[in-house]
Amino acid sequence: MAEILVVGAGIGGLFASRLLATTGHAVTLIERSPAASAVGAGLVLTDAAVHRLAEAGVQVGPIAQRLTALRVTGPRGRSLGGVAHRSALARPELITALSDGLSELADVRFGAALQGIRRDGDRVHCTVAGEERAFDFVVAADGIRSTVRSALAPDVALRSARQVCWRGIVPRRFGDAATELWTGQERIGIVPLTGGRSYVFVTRSTQDAGDDLAPVTGVPRRDATAVEALRSLPREALLRHELWELDRPFWGVPRIALLGDAAHAMTPNTGLGAALAIEDAVVLGEAVGAGLDSAVDRHRRSRGLRVRAAQLASRTIGDFAHSERRVAVTLRKRLGLQRA
Ligand SMILES: Cc1cc2nc3c(=O)[nH]c(=O)nc-3n(C[C@H](O)[C@H](O)[C@H](O)COP(=O)(O)OP(=O)(O)OC[C@H]3O[C@@H](n4cnc5c(N)ncnc54)[C@H](O)[C@@H]3O)c2cc1C
Repeated sequence: MAEILVVGAGIGGLFASRLLATTGHAVTLIERSPAASAVGAGLVLTDAAVHRLAEAGVQVGPIAQRLTALRVTGPRGRSLGGVAHRSALARPELITALSDGLSELADVRFGAALQGIRRDGDRVHCTVAGEERAFDFVVAADGIRSTVRSALAPDVALRSARQVCWRGIVPRRFGDAATELWTGQERIGIVPLTGGRSYVFVTRSTQDAGDDLAPVTGVPRRDATAVEALRSLPREALLRHELWELDRPFWGVPRIALLGDAAHAMTPNTGLGAALAIEDAVVLGEAVGAGLDSAVDRHRRSRGLRVRAAQLASRTIGDFAHSERRVAVTLRKRLGLQRA
């Protein structure tokens, strides 16, 4: 049994804590926020990720809206295909499901931030809330601005996608189809959720964005109505984020593993961020079981290709959707993804 510190109680950290604790390790989970996060709009999970959760006893059936398809459409409503085998959830509800019963398995501490980390042979010395303590292994699931990554690999840079995304959960369903409408100026996503709600998002280039979500014009009525519902949300429920990604993944050093956004934050265009964090937790759990010294290397070797492919696909989609370059504009018009 190893003493393991997990840093960050997001989706990746909560699930990794559960998996490591149920395989007999002594897990301490620290989260710098004072309580489990109630912030977040919707997110999409692959069927494989939902299956991984279920295998570990996290049943998301009642809070997951199964999506028959997720279609990309142009301003005239023409569908250009999409992906299937996914479910949509409200992030705060997934966080609650992952947190349920965890404090009986692990030592869970909120309001405790990791401030420093240093490896010395087989032990990893961590400064948490001003106190130093040593662990056999550390899992850094501390998100896109990871403290652990900054300490170990300060050269891994954040790259701006030069896009802004507004998102929120509106108290209304706009049918059962999940769609993403491209207009050339913006992308408007409407994703059905359980409980008669929808997850709505609007992504624009930074130069067109501004602070407030401006109304959309010239789009089908369903999309215009969804954006108006998003604009009507109270200020604290309408999230506005600039989109950033890591220029390349970083998986850690022996005995200090990174996972999820800490390791490979990517733009949300393929909707895989949460699913990849869940997959990471499973693979890392298995790698830890095979030996602490080799775990990070095993994890990197198992995950590297899948993660890099998802990251580059997501980057390409975002760049293509918002590029002002003539070739991109022409291609979008030809594909019906921009007004002529
Ligand atoms: C508040 C919030 C809201 C989000 N909302 C959405 C959304 O609406 N839709 C969507 O698709 N994605 C959203 N995301 C992103 C999405 O959840 C992640 O991309 C994905 O789930 C991968 O999760 P993760 O566990 O790797 O990282 P994250 O979800 O980013 O979790 C990282 C956690 O680590 C904690 N942390 C950071 N530094 C430290 C430290 N030094 N010590 C201790 N704890 C630390 C953070 O407080 C956070 O809880 C959100 C993320 C956050 C943090």
